[in-house]
Amino acid sequence: MIDELPRDRLGRRLHDLRISVTDRCNFRCTYCMPSEIFGRDYAFLPRAEILTFEEITRLARLFVGLGVRKLRLTGGEPLVRRDLPDLVAKLAAIEGVEDIALTTNGALLRAQSRSLREAGLRRVTVSLDSLDDAVFGAMNGVRFPVARVLDGIAAAREVGLAPVKVNMVVKRGVNEESVLPMARYARAHGLTLRLIEFMDVGQSNGWRLADVVPAAELVERIAGEFALEPVPPAYPGEVATRWRYADGAGEIGIIASVSQPFCGACTRARLSAKGELFTCLFAASGTDLRALLRGGASDDELVAAIAGRWRARGDRYSELRSAETTGLRRVEMFAIGG
Ligand code: SAM
Ligand code: SF4
Ligand code: SF4
Repeated sequence: MIDELPRDRLGRRLHDLRISVTDRCNFRCTYCMPSEIFGRDYAFLPRAEILTFEEITRLARLFVGLGVRKLRLTGGEPLVRRDLPDLVAKLAAIEGVEDIALTTNGALLRAQSRSLREAGLRRVTVSLDSLDDAVFGAMNGVRFPVARVLDGIAAAREVGLAPVKVNMVVKRGVNEESVLPMARYARAHGLTLRLIEFMDVGQSNGWRLADVVPAAELVERIAGEFALEPVPPAYPGEVATRWRYADGAGEIGIIASVSQPFCGACTRARLSAKGELFTCLFAASGTDLRALLRGGASDDELVAAIAGRWRARGDRYSELRSAETTGLRRVEMFAIGG
């Protein structure tokens, strides 16, 4: 089909595909879908506009032919998409896929872990911003209790979706005091905590640089209580900077896309729920693959469109982030899945 795997203008290969299966969510996290903006009358995508499982699977297979080895299902909240395990099973059957993961807020994990595991899911990342109900309830926007997320994590582990990673977005003055309790909890329960700098994705979350707690400070907070040692990246392009506890009680990851951008190693493509290909989390627009799919394009035509877009890619938003870029129009994170 193609002779050579595509590289973009900065020499980066295509290795990971994040698939957003829905733009809907049962939470209203302040940093992602603030309830003042995403209220009752917000118009989410009608079903007909969202890619079917067959369409997603066909595209995923073509992406794998172009070098993708790792798939991650995300959203919105991926577990609100009906019959998600059916999609996992279809993706797991694609030859060449080495890893299928899922990022979820955990609310529906107790109900779905087993069928996801049986369908071929390997791992889950669960987002949780605090162990304190008042703090977490305010951040998730729907007063969702911490205990139910922890129960979702337990359910995932019971069926072997492990190791579980826990994503925590840290916002200055909101949940920075939750960092140490979360680190203690994760250490004690064999979870890998990943601290994420609050990012200026989309245009709804009122991002200000002053709200970011930089990675160096996060590491310092934890190292004040537990000795930490740096861990080399597991593979080129790993977005998290890793640290291990010197006493052997596991590790933490820091995703410092604001203070230490990692665009040089960014090998990710993103497929939105309605079938657009985005080559950067901060892009303003994507390439409409759904129009090609539904217009009867052949596999070769789709591959040419994807490879052509990847070869034209020059994105390095986080490295260029400045007063000028923060004013630009950007797609919302829930639309393309973080
Ligand atoms: N709903 C799922 C969840 O929350 O895990 C999956 C989609 S969510 C968009 C993916 C990840 O992006 C979550 O871990 C979330 O915390 C993170 N995220 C969302 N908005 C963010 C922001 N402004 N800055 C940093 N991380 C963000
Ligand atoms: Fe929903 Fe995830 Fe966004 Fe929170 S971060 S609003 S759970 S999509
Ligand atoms: Fe990749 Fe864009 Fe993030 Fe840079 S800013 S790491 S290019 S997604």
